[in-house]
Formats: sequence, structure tokens, C-alpha cells
Amino acid sequence: MSSTSKDMLSKAGFASLLELAIHTPVSYLDTRLSNELIIGEIHTFEAEVVSVAKQPKRLVITVNSSLCDQSIEVTIFHPKPYHSALFKPGLKHYLQGKIERFGSKLQVVNPKKISKIGEIVPKYKCKLRQDVYRRIIDNLVTLENLKAQGLDEARASLIVRAHKPDDTWLRLYRKYGGFGPKTVEALKFAEALDHFQRLKGKRIRFSSMCKLNGSIEPFLANLPFELTDDQKRAIEDISNDLRSEFAARRMIVGDVGSGKTMVILASAMMAYPNRAVLMAPTSILARQLYEEAKKWLPKFVKIALVTQSKEIGDIESDHFIIGTHALLYRDLPEAPLIMVDEQHRFGTEQRKLLEQIVSKDKEKAKPHFLQFSATPIPRTQAMIDSALIDVTLIESTPFVKDITTRIIDKSDFASLLEHIKCEVEEGRQVLVVYPLVEESESINYRSLEESVEFWKSRFDGVYVTHGKDKLKDEVLAEFAQNGKILLATTVIEVGISLPKLSTIIIVGAERMGLATLHQLRGRVSRNGLKGYCYLFTHDKNNIRLKEFAKTTNGFEIARLDLKFRKSGDLLTGKAQSGKEFIWLDLAEDEEIVKEAKAKVDG
Ligand code: ADP
Ligand code: MG
Repeated sequence: MSSTSKDMLSKAGFASLLELAIHTPVSYLDTRLSNELIIGEIHTFEAEVVSVAKQPKRLVITVNSSLCDQSIEVTIFHPKPYHSALFKPGLKHYLQGKIERFGSKLQVVNPKKISKIGEIVPKYKCKLRQDVYRRIIDNLVTLENLKAQGLDEARASLIVRAHKPDDTWLRLYRKYGGFGPKTVEALKFAEALDHFQRLKGKRIRFSSMCKLNGSIEPFLANLPFELTDDQKRAIEDISNDLRSEFAARRMIVGDVGSGKTMVILASAMMAYPNRAVLMAPTSILARQLYEEAKKWLPKFVKIALVTQSKEIGDIESDHFIIGTHALLYRDLPEAPLIMVDEQHRFGTEQRKLLEQIVSKDKEKAKPHFLQFSATPIPRTQAMIDSALIDVTLIESTPFVKDITTRIIDKSDFASLLEHIKCEVEEGRQVLVVYPLVEESESINYRSLEESVEFWKSRFDGVYVTHGKDKLKDEVLAEFAQNGKILLATTVIEVGISLPKLSTIIIVGAERMGLATLHQLRGRVSRNGLKGYCYLFTHDKNNIRLKEFAKTTNGFEIARLDLKFRKSGDLLTGKAQSGKEFIWLDLAEDEEIVKEAKAKVDG
């Protein structure tokens, strides 16, 4: 781009040509003379003033025009002095306004005076003067320029026409009451393309401390099961990263139970005989990962565990160091691969610190860095994010959970109680989640406290806990052993696994975000047990709940969540983080974003 072009762009306040191009006119002023009278439409016509009548608060002007044989009555409400000067018998003006029939008369109310006819003038929302801004658009938003930015001929031409419409285009614009679907598609694509192109330049690549290409065969040979296709794909992505001279920056996103641990272990194998460090958010998790590493990795891989209270192995010489944030307070040896599990439970600072500790400032080379997340994000969001960090999604799970989801209300309660009796008799456990601990006027559902009596009078083995309960861990541990029914609020932490839990009942389900519902539903059917999820609501036709009941795929649910949040359906929606787009809809535009990304990735 020439320097004058760059100057014009920055004058208009934009960083890229595509950004300028997707800021389309907000309206068009069409000053071409009308050649036929269509009642109810806006016309531009030459009017010769015949007579003027001053009435209270209005000026009524009779004019002749070439549009029709009949004269037209022009009414100006609240006229200003210049109106009287303007409308003198014998004078001619170009006027624009909607012509309507009133009895036998033709009428126009408050028309606009047009000084220059024969144009279609786009109007922009901008800080510059309209004519100055339009000159910039004329110069920059051209077919050649847009094509040079990577747009195809068809899309480029649609966008150019949105800025410089011709007659056909404008007619369609009016017909649709806005841009037609093809133009909107072109604008979405241009916006996605702009996003990827601009971030492509921004992403800094560091050289890696060393290339890693250890064989995972000894690990695979030990496994009693085949890896899922998604696990294999994730390992393939990571393998390509680790062989590169650049330090890997990858996020692996997979629902709870999608088998991320196997991917972590395979990555440690690829690092071998070099050191890998894995950080987990709790000592229970770190311990679990350590046990699994011990179980599945070949014996020649030496493994250490570091938590605040415990240290196993030798962090100086072992190959694979697993720990909690306690790792951040140790003088760790150099490691060319670091991994963080459940990454959202760490702050950016902690993740950065881990990176610094193991890199030892080795000529500014950095370790390969893999982050694992159990919070599914919409696929389109993942692609958008991938401009700055590589992303792999693990969408399938090794076991398909068999969970039946039902939306129920009061009228279904009797059969629900029957179901609970059956499950409890079979030795399974039931969790009932209430929206609040105590009674509240703002919520139209029973609270936890109000319900305790109901359950205790009908069942034994009823346990009660909630987020602020100091004895929560003890209650949960005892329930896991001896309980039948657990009454709780949403805040019960994931800490303990409940393998016998077959049924969850969520009271006031329509009040909750889909992500929360998904987390809650994920508690049941952990070990291939048949699971049931009952969404108790006073709003049985709730569309969100209906859509939720149809799928257990966390990525699909994340997409639905975004879609409904956008439509403002959720009362208590958190503000979406991240970038705002003008045209793109991340809940819907997967194909467009995919195409734009592929184009920029080459
Ligand atoms: P995540 O960390 O993604 O929540 P895990 O790695 O803990 O999930 O895996 C969940 C369970 O699935 C574990 O018991 C694990 O041993 C098992 N598992 C993982 N991959 C497979 C597979 N390919 N086939 C069968 N079972 C698997
Ligand atoms: Mg895990």
C-alpha cells in the first residue's frame, strides 16, 4: 500500500483497508429524479411554486411538477424564516419526499431540498466530513484494492457496490430493507479475513530450546485400548509442533472425560529423554496424574511428584516432573517442554513464571508450551483464537455417556419420585440441585432449606451441603460412601467423584447458563452407568432447555450458549470476553471463518 493510501486510512481512523471496507454506509441519499409517480414512495422531483399559504404552525405550498398533471401540496410544519424566502411563487426547487394521496390531493410533508441531483450518495457514520470521508472511500475501496487484500472478485465487487451502489443494487437494498444476504456474507468474510491477516503479523514466534521427536511407541504398546481419532489428531498436532524449530504454543481443549491425560502422557514421551514438566491446579489432580503416568508410561521414564506437602522422586534427574503451583517455588532444572492441565485455574502470571523458571534464559529460546482446557469453546471461537495460539479440539469422548435428559414440571413430580425410588433401591445415588440455600422472594422455586423436610420424610440417606458449608468435604465423603440422595446448590465443587451417581435433578434449570447445566449433567454416568438428568422448570417450553436436552456435546453446547446469550435470552449472562465483530456471528459463521483462516494460513 502506498504511503498516501496509508495516510488516508489513518485519517479515516482504520488500521487496515478491509476494516475500512466493512464499515459500510448507514444510509444512501438518492437524488436521481423520479420519472414516474408511485403513491407512497419517496420521489425526487422538480417543483415550481404556484402559491403559498401561511397557516398556524405550517406553510402550505402548492407546486407543479413534471411527475403528474395534478399539482402537489407541500406542507412544512414549524417553518423557519428561510422557508418563506425559499418558497416564492415562480421559483423552482428540487425536492425529495414521500408523495401520498389525501382525498383527491397529492401531498408531501416536510420534503428535503436537494441541491445536486442525479447522484446516489452514501452516508457514513464517521468523525470526518462526509465529502472528505467519501473521497477516501472512493480512492481506497476499489475492486483492485480489495482483491489485493485477498478477496475474490465476487465478494470484492459486492462490497464495492455497497459503497458505490448502482440502480439495481439500490433497488435490492430497498427490497431487503438492508444489505442482501450475499453482501452480508461478503462483509463477514472480509471481517474474518481482516482478523486473521492482522493477527498473523502480530504473533511472535520464539525459537524452541530444542526439537523433540521421541517415539511414543513404547507408550502405545502398553495401552489396553486404542486411542480415539481425536486423541490421535491432538498427538499428531503436538508432534508436528515439537519437531519444529519454533516453540510450540498450543491449547488442547476437550470436555471432561475426553481423555486429555493420554495426550499429556504421549507428549511427555515425545520429550523423552529430555525433561517435561506438568503443572496441575490441585494436589489431588497432580497426584492422579502422577499415578496415571506411573501406570501407563514405560518404566524407563522416571517420574517425580512435587506438591506443597509431598515430594516423590528427584526433580534434578527425573524425566517427567508433575506438580502443583508448588513447582513455581522450586529451582527447577531446564526443561524443553512444559504443560499445564486445567489451564483456566491458573493466572497468566503463574503460567509465565513456569515458562521462565525452566528456560534459564537460554539465548532467549523458550520451552514448548502446551495448555489443556476442559472448558469447551465454540468451534468458531477456537478458530478465531487460533490467530494467536494454535488450538486443537478434542470433541469426542472414549465412552459415549448414556444420559437421558428430560424437561419436567410439577405435573411430572410423581413419576420423578418413582424413578428416584427405583434408582435408590438399585444402590444408585441421586443429586438434587437447588437455585438457592434459603428462601427468597425473587425466586419462584423452593430453596434448599425449604426442601430438606420433604426429602427426609420420604427417604433415608439424605445428605445436605452447599458452597458455604464448612463441612462440605466431610459431607460429600460420607455421602459418597453411604448416601442415597444429596441436596445441594450449584456451587458443589468437582473435588470428589461420585461413581454411583445416576440421576441429577436441577431445580429452576432455565435460570442457569448452559455451560453450568453441562457441568452439572457431567457429574452423572461417570462409569458408563445409565444416567438421567431432569431439568425442573415452570417454563416447560423453554427453547434453550429443549436444545440443551438434545445434545451432550460440550462444543455444541458452548455454541448454543453463545447464540442464546447473544439473543439476550439469558437473564444472568456474563459479558462475553474477547473481540466484538460487526458482521461475524461466532455462533453461526463457522464455514466463513474456516474459509478465511484457510486463506490466510495458505
Ligand atoms: P480428561 O482429562 O480429558 O477429563 P481423562 O484423561 O481423565 O479425561 O480420561 C477419562 C477416562 O477415560 C480415564 O479413565 C481414561 O483412562 C479413559 N480413557 C482415555 N482415553 C481412552 C481411550 N482411548 N479408550 C478408552 N478409555 C480411555
Ligand atoms: Mg484431566
